[in-house]
Amino acid sequence: MIAEVIVDVAHGEVDRVFDYKIEQDRYALGSRVEVPFGRQTLEGFIIGLKPKSDLSESKIKEVIRCLDEFPVLSTECLALARFVKERYHVPFALALRQFIPAELRGGRVKKKIISFASLSSEFTPVEMVASLRKGSTAQANAIGYLKEEGKVLLSVLNEKFGNSAIKSLKEKGFVIISQEKADRMPYKELDAFSKDVTLSLEQEDAIKRVENTQKAVTLIHGVTGSGKTEVYLRLINSTLKSGKTAIMLVPEIALTPQMLGQLRARFGDSVSILHSGLSAGERYDEWLRLKTGEAKIAIGARSAIFAPLENLGIIIIDEEHDGSYEAETAPRYKTVEVALKRAQLSGSKIVLGSATPSIESYDKALSGEYNLAKMTTRINGKDLPEFIVSDMRAELRRGNESIFSSDLKEELLKCVEQDNQAIIFFNRRGYSRQVICRDCGYVARCENCDVTLNYHRDNGVLKCHYCGSAYKMLSACPECGSVNLSYSGAGTQKIVAELKKLFPNESVLRMDNDTTSNKEGHFKILKEFSQKKARFLVGTQMVAKGHDFPSVTLVGILDADMSLYFSDYRSSERTFQLLTQVAGRSGRANKKGKVVLQTYNPDNLILRQAISYDYDGFFKNEKGIRQATGFPPYALIVRVMIESEDDGEAMSTLKSVYEEIKKIQQKRPDAFLFFNKMKCPVKRIKNKFRYQALMRLCGDYQSIKDEIYEKSLSFKTQKTLVYVEENPSNLY
Ligand code: ADP
Ligand code: ZN
Ligand code: ZN
Repeated sequence: MIAEVIVDVAHGEVDRVFDYKIEQDRYALGSRVEVPFGRQTLEGFIIGLKPKSDLSESKIKEVIRCLDEFPVLSTECLALARFVKERYHVPFALALRQFIPAELRGGRVKKKIISFASLSSEFTPVEMVASLRKGSTAQANAIGYLKEEGKVLLSVLNEKFGNSAIKSLKEKGFVIISQEKADRMPYKELDAFSKDVTLSLEQEDAIKRVENTQKAVTLIHGVTGSGKTEVYLRLINSTLKSGKTAIMLVPEIALTPQMLGQLRARFGDSVSILHSGLSAGERYDEWLRLKTGEAKIAIGARSAIFAPLENLGIIIIDEEHDGSYEAETAPRYKTVEVALKRAQLSGSKIVLGSATPSIESYDKALSGEYNLAKMTTRINGKDLPEFIVSDMRAELRRGNESIFSSDLKEELLKCVEQDNQAIIFFNRRGYSRQVICRDCGYVARCENCDVTLNYHRDNGVLKCHYCGSAYKMLSACPECGSVNLSYSGAGTQKIVAELKKLFPNESVLRMDNDTTSNKEGHFKILKEFSQKKARFLVGTQMVAKGHDFPSVTLVGILDADMSLYFSDYRSSERTFQLLTQVAGRSGRANKKGKVVLQTYNPDNLILRQAISYDYDGFFKNEKGIRQATGFPPYALIVRVMIESEDDGEAMSTLKSVYEEIKKIQQKRPDAFLFFNKMKCPVKRIKNKFRYQALMRLCGDYQSIKDEIYEKSLSFKTQKTLVYVEENPSNLY
């Protein structure tokens, strides 16, 4: 028998199948094996079995051994890996690695052993205590404790009563120590709570639509607070009942303790959390519980789409519009694409959920490619929060130079008086480099593209990230002549300080990348806030996610404009999504919610649409613009990235790539809307110089896409990295 093996080295040179001899039926398809390779031994995956090799018998070596007790990859996962390899043009080994926890490779997982203590059954507790020397209170107390508690962690016992007391109890034979494989259940301390609710009509309808459709994908477009989570839970429940398994994807697991808590409450140990923030051991255990079938629900961020589940019945992608569903390192996969393939292989359903679906998904829902379910009202008919728009130009004219508008100050005060809570949202990402006039709201834009310009401090010019044009930095506003131009802003810390000045007696929590670097930092902050240990929560994008805090009645959006002018064709879409999501945190329980939105552009269309919750209007308008300007979904943006520590080599690689693609363009000019080469907006990251060939393809481009990949990737060397991105979510 011959095993076809992919060695676990993600290099182009060894990215092919190698034949190895095995005894008949010795190793199964999908097993990890150790094989001789040149003068070394390597780990590899068996991706095929066949009776005979095309090579001569004498040239074929034998598989040394199998690395695990079971094949790590099912045939479904093998097929999915093949899809990832081909679709995203990565070495097979890299695709295969997505399916196993990193710690499995190189045999780095150790089973964690934990010691437990319990009382011996040879004596009664009374006899034990009676036999103790006088004054051995610690020992007597430990016996009493164990009598009550039964089996406890040895470490806990030692801590409570002292090592020496426990040691002498062991020596007397009163305390028995047993060792067990640790059950490293992550997030044990989660608030597992379950609400017993009667479904709303819209929830019932959404569930029926998912269950009755023949289409692969159902998009649930449900306003914030419409009860999407309950719909997911019910769908998972019926999937489990039919003997199948489920994958539940969320943008960022650390930001969704409530979703986790509810899943745990309802499905207990059947839930497995796949999360990069777990320890290596925990990660492995959780993976293994899915692999062995002990757990039937995988919840995690995008990589959980590769969970080792069999018999998959449903894949749910919550907040489907979120940018985190696109991988930014190789393989640069789009989660929905992988989900579609997986659903096709396993016969499972896909549910996408959002209050603000991406233009692409909603387009597919309207065209009938996806099934659509709508949830238009909040649970119990509560109103969506009311928007108050603060015109910051007017504030400035009135002499208010503080970060907060007078409306916001007033609402904050009311919020404190009524003992409610508020979230202050601040979009730091938007504060990157666009130039905005503080007097008239003018923002510098490119003449050739419908995007804003970015200020490049190093050489003092304004640049378009789409076509590469450069403009001179403005010294005054071309619209109104004001010199009051802003291209930098406040940070979250400053906002906290301002809040404290206004409300010295109130406590403030801050949540951003700086405050949440450790593993469970998000959880801690979110928990404290939900326990009302602080009045205000100040934060970046993180506070916009699906949190459900009943006491929050006010949301302040400090700089609605900033993300609007992020230089990206998706900036309107992102702004609409962000505003709707943040606003959606307000007034979710019985109290009415408000949102104060501060802007320099109160008449901006996107803001207007967000304020009136007009998703359909927004969609129609945005779709029109994309069509007219040739942006996705009407075109595909392809960027070939070149990164190297050697600037000269990077530049010459760019030139070669450009010339090869130029040839393709000459053959098929109809497929190119735009094509150019340039330095990347951020010219150097981690000491690597960055260049890009940028194009927008339209019409029938599928046939040339693979060629663009192949030609470009052929210039990859040890020193110079070349990779291709499609509709990248960042163009920095
Ligand atoms: P969404 O994800 O759509 O923004 P959630 O799923 O967080 O909304 O639900 C909003 C709130 O409504 C939650 O507190 C949830 O527990 C509650 N809820 C959901 N469904 C029902 C129901 N049928 N009856 C009563 N409360 C519900
Ligand atoms: Zn101006
Ligand atoms: Zn431009």
